[in-house]
Amino acid sequence: MRIAQLGLGLMGLPVALRLQRQGFEVGGWNRGAGRMEAARRAGLATDADLPALVRGADTLILTLSDYPAIQAVLFAPGRTLELEGRLILQMGTIGPAESRALAARCREAGAEYLEAPVLGSLPEAEAGTLIVMAGGGEAEYARALPLLSALGRAPERVGGVGQAAALKLAMNQLIASLTAGFSLSLGLVRAEGLDVERFMVLLRASALYAPTYDKKLGKMLAHDYASANFPLKHLLKDMALFRGVAAAVGIDDTLPAAHAALLQRGAAAGLDDLDYSSLYELINPAPPE
Ligand code: NAP
Repeated sequence: MRIAQLGLGLMGLPVALRLQRQGFEVGGWNRGAGRMEAARRAGLATDADLPALVRGADTLILTLSDYPAIQAVLFAPGRTLELEGRLILQMGTIGPAESRALAARCREAGAEYLEAPVLGSLPEAEAGTLIVMAGGGEAEYARALPLLSALGRAPERVGGVGQAAALKLAMNQLIASLTAGFSLSLGLVRAEGLDVERFMVLLRASALYAPTYDKKLGKMLAHDYASANFPLKHLLKDMALFRGVAAAVGIDDTLPAAHAALLQRGAAAGLDDLDYSSLYELINPAPPE
């Protein structure tokens, strides 16, 4: 398999390096030169000539921010990529309808398409322990399986194109809900001067516990959200996608709208590139001096 990894951001680079370590031939491309250079320094072969990189590959992995970014890369006006015969593996978080539209466009261009959004972040990508949810045909899945198996312990084909994208949004909605819920409770505990560790001990022993609470507690206590693996702006994007899908099936929008509004406020306050757990600061603003 000769892989062209398009998008060398927070997820793209560790995915490409993991595949390279597992023996795949990988060439990386990124729109901005800064990330290309960082990838090269990390030991990845890169190529600034996107059409040439695609010509030399049989599999394209997309780790781009969103659907507009994918369109801008694959179908930019005035630039034709040779997609025929290639497998296009879409690993970013996009909406089900977006993924179906992309699949149709890839098929028109003679390519095969599989969506494979993932749960997990940089450490899991580096270790090959991502939770990989694939959506697409059996044949496309079989073609991608060696690669998916190098990225996740137990990749699974969960349905057709769009269904894995929907499942991923169902998961990411929980990121917002759980983080917001924990922020509310931790905020009250601290405002009341209660012992945080006592609260955590009781919480951990209860049915209400989720491991993400402990993962984010340190950041919330230190008010330090730098070095984000999953930035707030991507969770905002995912909540917007979730709301679109949920509305179509008649799910009440009250809670998703509130989470999206909170995240929007965070983005407006400049938290976009910080860890999404900076939600805590919006829910528990510092009292005025
Ligand atoms: P990221 O660090 O923000 O990287 C985004 C990538 O998209 C960069 O390569 C960026 O290129 C590229 N891009 C954005 N707009 C573009 C455009 N118009 N044309 C060309 N390239 C464009 O994001 P990430 O964390 O790697 O996430 C990638 C996808 O995976 C997202 O859909 C995200 O929701 C999903 N995801 C992320 C995580 C995570 O933990 N980070 C986990 C699961 C899923 P430039 O460098 O040129 O801006």
